[in-house]
Amino acid sequence: MPPRQRVLRRATVKATRQLSTNLIRVTFDCPELAGMDLPFTDHYIKILFVPGTQRPFDPDTDGDPSDVAAVTRTYSLRSHDASNGAITVDFVVHGDAGLAGPWAAHAEVGDRIGFFGPGGAWAPDPDIDHFVLVGDESAAPAICAAIEALPEATTAEVFLEIASQGDTFPVPARDGVSLTWVPRDGAPYGSELTRVVRAAGHPAARTRWFVHGVAEMVKELRRHLFVDLGLPRTDVSISGYWRSGMNEDGWQSSKHEFVETMDADEAAAGAEPVPPKEPRRA
Ligand SMILES: Cc1cc2nc3c(=O)[nH]c(=O)nc-3n(C[C@H](O)[C@H](O)[C@H](O)COP(=O)(O)OP(=O)(O)OC[C@H]3O[C@@H](n4cnc5c(N)ncnc54)[C@H](O)[C@@H]3O)c2cc1C
Repeated sequence: MPPRQRVLRRATVKATRQLSTNLIRVTFDCPELAGMDLPFTDHYIKILFVPGTQRPFDPDTDGDPSDVAAVTRTYSLRSHDASNGAITVDFVVHGDAGLAGPWAAHAEVGDRIGFFGPGGAWAPDPDIDHFVLVGDESAAPAICAAIEALPEATTAEVFLEIASQGDTFPVPARDGVSLTWVPRDGAPYGSELTRVVRAAGHPAARTRWFVHGVAEMVKELRRHLFVDLGLPRTDVSISGYWRSGMNEDGWQSSKHEFVETMDADEAAAGAEPVPPKEPRRA
């Protein structure tokens, strides 16, 4: 099969809003996404940046992204309004390093971006009774979208890691959904979240898991879910959204090897083998 063509799209900043100390919401006008059916709760886009700058690539003035070797940064769609194409993206602001975080911290109404996507793969299964949704701030947008899409009469446990107790942000509230904030309070990214989720054990109900965020946490929780609890791979959506000390280019180019090593270690410890993967592309 020939490789799927990436579609280059454009969007314009319509509003920005600080959600917490380190999370900023940017709303974009994107008429190209009007009328589009986006059925998943983990839809993501790949925002393009001009290499060597913290400036988003503008398809109207910067030409062809491959001519300038534009770099990409991956972000979930927190929401999409099919009536007009408006989308919201919640960016973690993690200091001056990087491209997308620093750009979002200073984004202004009228700024233009180019992006590929949306891609996406997961939504709460209506035949399942219970969900466990786990992530740090980078996965919070997809988790919040999942809470809003939970089928009637299902229940969920949500575990969200934040920098400290003062850094909470709005999360949709629903009957049957419990929310546990997990402050890092200076601990390494993901370590407190791993500890709390391990301690919570396995729910009695038929459960699906959505676990995303820093790669180190994903490695530990994969082992917990697939080796310690012996869960089938199909019950769990789990992946590293970023990795400490690596920018997205470094993480994406090393991710395959990182995942293969986890697959092999888990298989050696008795976990279910990993089925062949479909290529995932925005
Ligand atoms: C499918 C998918 C969906 C995602 N959705 C979101 C989303 O909705 N919101 C979001 O904020 N992120 C999301 N991410 C993660 C985001 O793509 C990465 O955090 C990305 O590295 C940020 O790019 P940057 O240019 O800001 O920093 P980079 O240039 O990639 O990295 C610069 C430095 O910052 C560090 N860093 C990167 N991200 C973080 C972080 N979250 N916290 C602390 N330090 C960090 C890096 O380790 C590196 O040292 C998603 C990733 C994937 C794969």
